[in-house]
Amino acid sequence: MQVATGKSILNGIAIGPLRVYKKAAVQTSQASSLTPEEEWARFEAAREKAQEQLAGLYEKALDEVGEDNAAIFEIHQMMLDDDDYLEAVKGILDTQGATAEYAAETTGENFSAAFAAMDDEYMRARATDVKDISHRVVNILTGAGDAAMQDDQPAILVADDLTPSETVQLDKSKLLGFITRHGSSNSHTAILARTMNIPALIGVDFDDSWNGRTAVLDGYNHCVYIDPAQELLTAMEEKRRNDLKQEALLQNLKKKPNVTLDGKEIKVYANIGNAGDVGLVLQNDAQGIGLFRSEFIYLESEDFPSEDQQFAIYKRVVETMAGKKVIIRTLDIGADKQAAYFGLDKEENPALGYRAIRICLTRKEIFKTQLRAILRASAFGTVSIMFPMIISVREVRDAKDLLEECKAELKERGVAFGTVEVGIMVETPAAVMLADELAEEVEFFSLGTNDLSQYTLAIDRQNPKLDNFYDSHHPAVLRMIRHTIEAGHRHGCWVGICGELGADQTLTETFLRMGIDELSVSPSSILPLRKIIRGLDLSKPPETV
Ligand code: PEP
Ligand code: MG
Repeated sequence: MQVATGKSILNGIAIGPLRVYKKAAVQTSQASSLTPEEEWARFEAAREKAQEQLAGLYEKALDEVGEDNAAIFEIHQMMLDDDDYLEAVKGILDTQGATAEYAAETTGENFSAAFAAMDDEYMRARATDVKDISHRVVNILTGAGDAAMQDDQPAILVADDLTPSETVQLDKSKLLGFITRHGSSNSHTAILARTMNIPALIGVDFDDSWNGRTAVLDGYNHCVYIDPAQELLTAMEEKRRNDLKQEALLQNLKKKPNVTLDGKEIKVYANIGNAGDVGLVLQNDAQGIGLFRSEFIYLESEDFPSEDQQFAIYKRVVETMAGKKVIIRTLDIGADKQAAYFGLDKEENPALGYRAIRICLTRKEIFKTQLRAILRASAFGTVSIMFPMIISVREVRDAKDLLEECKAELKERGVAFGTVEVGIMVETPAAVMLADELAEEVEFFSLGTNDLSQYTLAIDRQNPKLDNFYDSHHPAVLRMIRHTIEAGHRHGCWVGICGELGADQTLTETFLRMGIDELSVSPSSILPLRKIIRGLDLSKPPETV
């Protein structure tokens, strides 16, 4: 038995044969016997055909994985129309007398290398896309196709990298899981895998000898077992059967309240990153959205999203939630979430740097554009606004003043808006220590335990070397949570948790005993959490070990 490790994109187990997929190595000759104009005409014809293919893929993805995930094919279409890209191809044709295939492939490689070196995570993720579009054009020009990715037998697909267009074309009924050497957990391919609910591992070193061998992809333990020993195989088959059983059982909990055996009710909301996630929120029966990370709208844009663009997105989410609460966190950009057009300087300590509310209070027009968009959406349902990274009462007052200015501006414009509840993220030790004062300013607190643990423990949450030290069960973190809940309640604020710790089932009872009012978690954690809550009896003394 051989074991290889990687990074899991989705918890789950896949068992079956491995199928190693190799892209066709297209031989593109450099020198052309045609004139540059003739080669350009060939390139243009292939580009037109590629655009048609992409439009078809967009429609297919729209049906299968929703508008937000389909958007990648619109991005590909835009990339194929990009002036810089086209000029680079033309430059190679004109100056090198090259074939259209060579020019397209070389441009794809050059742009990909340039994107890969960028600081901005969004742009880095485009490195694969630009190669993907160039590969498509080259395939059309040469008439070559890649080897089929799948055959009739269901398999775990193994590839160097899978582009979004390849991923969406996969026949899900024949796809047990996938493993790639490259890719990042934020790539569109990873997002598609999660949306399709397929166990996947990235960053796995493999070789051709894997092809056809039996494997167990263990997403829980970030590894793949090749030629597993019979004992392990049997245990994994049992675990997989259990997973399926659990999933099916959880469906019975839909429409049931999140209430403990002794009658304490608690809200369980969902965290989302974009409007496309709302389907999952409904599917998993969340009572509301407890954290809409609005910065993803900015990360997915080429430039500052306008008030109207943002309004359209927020309105769609709010309308779909049909009166259920939608808590929109205002822009939390900076640190690991960078968008090039903000022009932010490189910083020594980005997690402690110019980010979130600090940007919003100094670049007020960006902030006010967002606040007006959120206020407008509030006319269509139940909206709350939440400010991130707060460390002082002054910041909350300043943010609320800007909110009032925005209301006045909308009134002046004759634009409708509803009543919005205002809250803050409690994710800095300063906010915890000032919880009594801050609670006088707002209607709710949402504990951002990801950052609160980072700042309390002085441990960079991005640094994999510190994983073993990053202990969110640390008593200091738990005491901060308790303090925040108690302070909030003293002043009439409701208190929730929207950091990852909210989904930690080993702490659900502790949080309930502390008096937490709401837990906001990823959509797939909602029903498992409901199950735990419904099994608790808080009237009994807590079990001590
Ligand atoms: C947090 O810090 O816990 C949080 C929910 O926000 P983010 O993970 O987006 O920083
Ligand atoms: Mg945070």
